[in-house]
Parts: sequence; C-alpha cells; structure tokens
Amino acid sequence: MALCNSTSSLTQTLAPWRERGGKIGFVPSMGALHDGHGSLVAQALSENDCVVVSIFVNPTQFNNAADLEKYPRPFEQDLAFLKAIDPKIVVFAPEATELYQGEVQSKAYRFGPIASEMEGRHRPGHFDGVGTVLNLLFRAVEPTNAYFGEKDFQQLQIVRKLVELEKLPVNIIGCAIYRADNGLAMSSRNRRLTPEQLEAAPFIFKILKQAQKDFDKKSIPAIVREAEAAFAAHPILELEYFEIAGIHNLKTAYRKHPSNTYRAFVAAFAGEVRLIDNMGLN
Ligand code: AMP
Repeated sequence: MALCNSTSSLTQTLAPWRERGGKIGFVPSMGALHDGHGSLVAQALSENDCVVVSIFVNPTQFNNAADLEKYPRPFEQDLAFLKAIDPKIVVFAPEATELYQGEVQSKAYRFGPIASEMEGRHRPGHFDGVGTVLNLLFRAVEPTNAYFGEKDFQQLQIVRKLVELEKLPVNIIGCAIYRADNGLAMSSRNRRLTPEQLEAAPFIFKILKQAQKDFDKKSIPAIVREAEAAFAAHPILELEYFEIAGIHNLKTAYRKHPSNTYRAFVAAFAGEVRLIDNMGLN
C-alpha cells in the first residue's frame, strides 16, 4: 500500500491517475479508524478510480489540549485496517509542519451563522481549524470527490461552505452515520470509554430515536425538555446540549415549519470523553 508522508510524494503517487483522467476519491480522517470510516472508504472505492485516505490529527481544531493529547493514534493498526479493505488505497499522513508549511495555525474563516451554533459555540476556534486543514488537504490531494460522515453533520455543512469560499473544484458527498448494533455511533473516541461508559453510551441513540418518534406529535420545546430531563437523570452521561435545528442554517428551532427538514443534535460527556451524535427527524 502506498504511504505518502509529504505532498510531493503524494503528487508523484497520484500522477499516473491524473494523467489518465481518473477520478480521485478522498476520505480525510484523524485515524483510529473504525467501520464508520470504513463505510466512507467503501463508498469512495465504488465511485472513484483511486482513493486517498488521509490520517492526520489536526492540532488547530482542538480547543482542549488534553483532548488533543489523548486522541488515539494507532497508526500501524490503521494501515492494516485500510490494507485489508483494499491494498490499492493511498494513505496520506503528513507531519503538521509539512502540511501547514510553517506555522501550525488556523486561518479565520467567515462561514457565517452555521459556524456559531452547537459545536461552534461549545468549541471556539474548532471550525476555523477544520476549514484550515481541509483547505490544505484539498489542495494537496486535488480530489474529484470527498467523503464526509453525517456523524459530524455541522462539519459537513461547514465543508460545503469552505469549498464555496475557497472555490475548490471538489464534490462533497455526505455519508450516513454508521452505528453499532446497539445504536451507538461509531467514533474514534469510543476507544477511550470504560466498559461501563461504553455500555451507557447507546442512551444517546435511544434519546435521539425517541425525539424522532415524538417529532410529529409533540412541540419542539417539549421534545427538548424531555430529552434534557432524561439526561439529567442519567447516572453516567452528562449532557452538553440537545438541540433541534433546521438542516440548512442549523439555528436552534423552536417551531416546526412544514417545508423545513430538521435534525436533533447531541453532545454529551462520558467522563472526560465527549461524544456527539445526530438524527434526522422528518
Ligand atoms: P474523524 O477521523 O473523526 O475526523 O472522521 C473522519 C470522517 O469519518 C468524518 O467525515 C466523519 O464524519 C466520518 N465518520 C466518523 N464516524 C463516523 C460514523 N460513525 N459514520 C459515518 N461517518 C463517520
């Protein structure tokens, strides 16, 4: 499997594909790969001639130093995971200083109101970091199609905005959330959960499912109140936010408009581990 640690080696590896006019699919990741990433890679393989997966824990998108330090980095396992899917996958794993070409810092983006809701409100600077690294990665990979999980739904909308602002010639493709049989959304952070926390975590899915079930019958404030009360009574999970928002502007919704499409969004802590999830409601 080709492993590229620099943009120049990546450019060389991809040159034959570009010369033939092949489609290049791209799955950006921070590693600690799981079947959720695997589902994006499988879709990319089915729709492109060559697939690049980046493994890069981006320092500028972490607003919490301990979270960055504790982020799992099982690099050899990740390579084996990808090789087992398809040994023709190209892995791009640059050093931060190589990718950023100098100082590792974020650019300030004007993503508009979507960046100040939910994750933007609770993780200051996060989306500037995400935008900065993806802009650099897109310029290094020059993909035809790039794949992002709806697991990070707000990030997906930010990426669409980034591509518009930076005028990048790439199609952004959103992929469904991949869940364990018990409903827990797969996440690299799940590795940091204790057995007890891991058992508790599917509660997030349960509450989202309940919100989906109630959406036609109850008002948005009532659904939110009930979800907040359920979390307040939970012995292990601590809720950071439960919000219902329209999918385009991601602003907190208080009333349903028949023409709008809504999702419920959750961020909750299991000990120090912050988990997020979301679900379509209508
Ligand atoms: P990360 O490595 O956490 O930055 O994630 C890399 C990509 O995989 C992002 O586009 C995520 O939204 C996506 N992803 C992570 N977990 C899942 C999941 N359970 N289902 C679908 N996509 C996911």
